[in-house]
This record gives sequence, C-alpha cells and structure tokens, in this order.
Amino acid sequence: MSVSPGFEQVPCPICGSEESRVVLRRGDLMLSSEGEFTVTECLACRHQFLNPRPTREAIHEHYEDEYDQFIVAGQENRLRQLDHDYGQRKRLRLLKRHIAGGRLIDVGCGGCAFLLSASRSGDWDVLGIEPSAATAEACRSLLGLSVMTSSWEGADVPAESADVITLWEVLEHLHDPLATIRKCYRVLRPGGLLVISTPNRGSLDARLFGPYWVGYELPRHLHMFRQEHLQEILAAEGLKVEEVCLPDGAFFAFNTSLRFYLRDHGAPGWLQRAIFSLPLRAVSAPFFWVSGKLLLGSSLTTVARKPA
Ligand SMILES: [Zn+2]
Repeated sequence: MSVSPGFEQVPCPICGSEESRVVLRRGDLMLSSEGEFTVTECLACRHQFLNPRPTREAIHEHYEDEYDQFIVAGQENRLRQLDHDYGQRKRLRLLKRHIAGGRLIDVGCGGCAFLLSASRSGDWDVLGIEPSAATAEACRSLLGLSVMTSSWEGADVPAESADVITLWEVLEHLHDPLATIRKCYRVLRPGGLLVISTPNRGSLDARLFGPYWVGYELPRHLHMFRQEHLQEILAAEGLKVEEVCLPDGAFFAFNTSLRFYLRDHGAPGWLQRAIFSLPLRAVSAPFFWVSGKLLLGSSLTTVARKPA
C-alpha cells in the first residue's frame, strides 16, 4: 500500500501486532487537513489507532494556530474563561482527593488553562511541557509560568522529581503512548500520581455518533483507547489505578460530535449553533450528570499511583 508523504504505516503501537482491520475512513472534521484518514483496530489487543499516521516530523502541519488548546489562558472570551475556570477547579478537586500538593508537571500544557489554575491554588509548584514553541513562549511571557518548550519524550526532567503528572487530552496525540507512560513512571516520585484524561471509545457518544464522534479527531488523534484497556496498560507498567471518573463537562464534546453529524447532513447553520446554547445546556445537565456517573461520557480521567 502506498503511503502519502509525511505519513507512516505502523504496527499496533501498544502490542506490536501487524494484524489489523480497517474500522473507518474519514476526513478532518475539526480543522482543514486534506485527504481521508484511516482508523484500524489491532486484531490482537483491539486497540484502535490511526494508520497510516502523520510522522513525528510532519504532525505539526495538522495543527493550526487557532487550535483550541493553543489559546493562552485568559485570552478567550469572558464566558469561555468562566467555563474553563470551572472545569479546571473540578480537575484540581479531583487531585486533592488523592494528594495534598507538591510538584506538578502538566504534559502538553497548551495554553496553560490548567497550569494557571493549579499555580494560583497555592498547592502546586508547577511546570508545563509544551512542544509548540509559540504557545510555550506566550505562556511564559503573558502568564509568567514555568513552561519548557519540548516534547515529553525529549524533556530534560529529573527522575523521581514530580508528585503529580497530568496529561489532559494529550495521550491520544502522542506517537508512543507506552514510552510516554514509562517516562511518567520514571519522573514520578514513589507514591506519586499519574492522571490521564483521554477519549473513551466505550462512551455513549462514540456508540451514538460513530465516525462523527469527536474522539476520532483525525489526523491529530493517533489513538482511541478503551478505558478497560488503558487500565490494563497502566497496571502492566506498575501503576495502581485508584479512580476513573469524568470531572470535565461532557456537554461540549457531545455537541461537537452532534454538530459534525448535523453539518454533514445539511442541517442549517442556526441549528448547528443552537445546540451549544446555555438554555439547552441547563436543560440537558441531568442527562450529562447521569452519563458521567455511569462512565459513559466522551472522555474519561484515570488516576493511577506509582507504588510508594
Ligand atoms: Zn495491539
């Protein structure tokens, strides 16, 4: 099979098997990368992954400046800011249930919305790791935060130096999730926490929307984890899973998938916008609360501990 320039064909990034089947082909519904992308499922471990996928050297071409995660904290509109602050507080409350404070490293910190909240809470001595040089520099100069311009694989951080490492919606973007988790293990102090949120292939959203599910954010999402599989991977690397939950609001993710579906089916623009409205958000809150409690939300967060 011929592979386009900037792409590579790979075996299963989790178990190494060469045996896989195609599960879907789709274009970029979020930004404007051209072409059609293929998701395959490993026949051995059932991990789903983008294949062929952009190479490490070429993947930045598929991110644009206006990519949501690159917007520096405090630069969004006021409503989004309030919404984000609320979301970050919920993430911090989740951490507090497991650990009092200490040295926190946020891998793929983007515009630093979480890092800023963590820093302001006074409980955390924070460090961000961000491969986008422009975003990292903006966070340093505008927010005064300590942010290293680097991939996680290349980041020069001492072993056993962190009490918590967080990857909020990051693992699915990285070429080698196992190497990522292993490095986290090395950098964590004994008794430290690894916190990973990633789209959940077993979610109601994934089942309902199929190829329109936001978790298939091609070609930037290289992996679509099943929650049970991620737990097995973490356990195999020596980490003890303490909690799986959905601290983030599921409304936005659900409606982004719904918008992709509506847009592809010719729905008018006003309807595509109306699904994000505040009244609808209020009315649908009980539904998302229940789906969150049942761990059926689009993305789940896993808290795992390195043994003391
Ligand atoms: Zn596999």
